[in-house]
Amino acid sequence: MLSSEGYPRDVAPPSSPTLGEALRYLVTHPYELLIKQWNWKAALLSSLLRGGLYFSVNLKMGWEAAVAAMLTEWSYRAVTAGALASSTQSLRRVTPTWQGVTAVVVLIPLVSHTLEYFVHWMRGTAALNASIAASITFTVVSYAFQFFIMRENILITGPGSSSLARDFARLSRTVFGIIAAPFRVLLCALFISACLLPLVHAEPQAAPSVAPPNVLFITIDTLRADHLSSYGYHLKTSPNIDRLASEGVRYENAYTVTSRTGPSHYSMFTSRYPQEHGAKLNGYSVASNSKFLFLPQILRRFGYETGAFISAWPLTGRLTQLNRWFDTYDEELSRTYQYINSSRWAEDVTPKAISWLKERDKDDPFFLWVHYFDPHSPYDFREEFEATEPSGHPDRWAASGGRERTELIRTYDSEVRYTDHHLRSLFAALDDLEIAESTLVVLTADHGECLGEYGFRGHGSQTYENILHVPLIMRWPGTLPAGKVVTQPVSLIDMAPTIVDLTIRRSNPEEKIPSTFAGRSLAANLLEDRELLAQPIHFAAYAGQKWIAPKWISWMWLWRGELDFPLHLGRIFQGRKITWTEDEYKLRVVDLKGDPLELKPEVLDDDSTVYQKETARLARWYESTALTEGESRITETDKDALRSLGYLQ
Ligand SMILES: [Zn+2]
Repeated sequence: MLSSEGYPRDVAPPSSPTLGEALRYLVTHPYELLIKQWNWKAALLSSLLRGGLYFSVNLKMGWEAAVAAMLTEWSYRAVTAGALASSTQSLRRVTPTWQGVTAVVVLIPLVSHTLEYFVHWMRGTAALNASIAASITFTVVSYAFQFFIMRENILITGPGSSSLARDFARLSRTVFGIIAAPFRVLLCALFISACLLPLVHAEPQAAPSVAPPNVLFITIDTLRADHLSSYGYHLKTSPNIDRLASEGVRYENAYTVTSRTGPSHYSMFTSRYPQEHGAKLNGYSVASNSKFLFLPQILRRFGYETGAFISAWPLTGRLTQLNRWFDTYDEELSRTYQYINSSRWAEDVTPKAISWLKERDKDDPFFLWVHYFDPHSPYDFREEFEATEPSGHPDRWAASGGRERTELIRTYDSEVRYTDHHLRSLFAALDDLEIAESTLVVLTADHGECLGEYGFRGHGSQTYENILHVPLIMRWPGTLPAGKVVTQPVSLIDMAPTIVDLTIRRSNPEEKIPSTFAGRSLAANLLEDRELLAQPIHFAAYAGQKWIAPKWISWMWLWRGELDFPLHLGRIFQGRKITWTEDEYKLRVVDLKGDPLELKPEVLDDDSTVYQKETARLARWYESTALTEGESRITETDKDALRSLGYLQ
């Protein structure tokens, strides 16, 4: 049954609603109906509540966006009230043009709100999406009902209307009346701008919010940078790594912080020096109560699935405890050397890593670490992969050291070329799975190798350039520049903060991401080409046996009761490399620009002022970073395995 005003009696508004009645109307009546009924208290309350809802929904995008959204909602409501008041009060005299203007005025917020919702939907989290979905449903129903009312020309100006309502209607009519046709366009434009305000305000926070990429983290054991053709080697040893470099960013001067497998990987994952995390030698892990966070640990906390495929004994989970931070830790070492299964080859580990990629069924991004061991001794000569083709670069070392050394290098290069060959199928798997564009590939080495230069073979106890200087390449098509070469020296402890910045921090700009990194992030230089400032690169090599404590750290010797002081300590800064060797009381100073092969070092005694100044500087650095002792996990079996790989004498 309809009242004389055209509304069912049971929903007709009371002339002066109480707050309770107003709230009841809010539940059962859309805003536009409340306006038409001149139920101003309820309409005002409805507006306040809706503004509050918009504020809370948008708070996720920052408080500026929330305030802007609330103001937009209120301004929209005020204009709608004016439009409806104007049209309903004079509906009998309303021309089709005015009806059209009213419809447009009502339509603009609908379009802008839908757009706003859409943008938030794209950028929002799951919880926000649910709230926005509910809001969109409400809005669509609300607008559908509003258009139904307008079409039906339901006119409420009954006896319940207050003088305030009549005044507002008169004012609205006057305002709308004085806007001549040319100004209607301007009004519309201004209104659109007001409605789009939340989008503009939300931009600074929302812009970086992108899906976090997968990370394929490749470490190639014992791979010295200068034996890759992309790093200037005279033979073509690395066509696939070279291609990766041409598609991404290559760090011309990347340095490891230490020269042993386990400690170096620890430093990469924790962004800390060995004396900080405590694992200075193979067979040691960080203390179980360590406060340092690991890269895979942080990524996993933010939704990454983590997988590791390692290829040598020093990285087994039992020794390193790194398996704690990986959902999958594959350490099936299938190659036997001196009766012990202590390593595996590229052809063993690559298919397993690819299978993991293909079989995972999660939508979460992944962090996949693949470790290759082939360029590490004992070397196998891979005849099929002998590098003979010249790369166009000169041979920096030229042939020296006789036939034995030539054979050694030839064998080492064949292992490099062999590893590179298997990397091709790993990279191809990314293409096959169509995830190359969404995967950040990071390729590096834990340390290099001395191949008879300076009369030395191996890596563990020395800090020559061919041991410390490692390749570092990052590729992320479409996001990182292709073919960029960074010449500023960087340290491997810079990698973890860079990866965190490129992945979860970029995707969760508002989120606090805990980390305990000492390195610096290279992300701003990669993404925005911001200048990378020169910073000293520090390094330390540990001997793993008793050494005489130097004068300037003798107090630490006594206090700590430990024997694993660094055998070498040093820093590279502004083209100058300074290495202090503890049992010699000598300081080696090399000008890397003039003498890149370190053939003419300046050796300073402790009576030199440069010696005193530089060792004091190194001492300050070491003392401020020597924090923790690792925990030995070596058993007799481990000793045998490590010995078989040449780790122990
Ligand atoms: Zn290694």
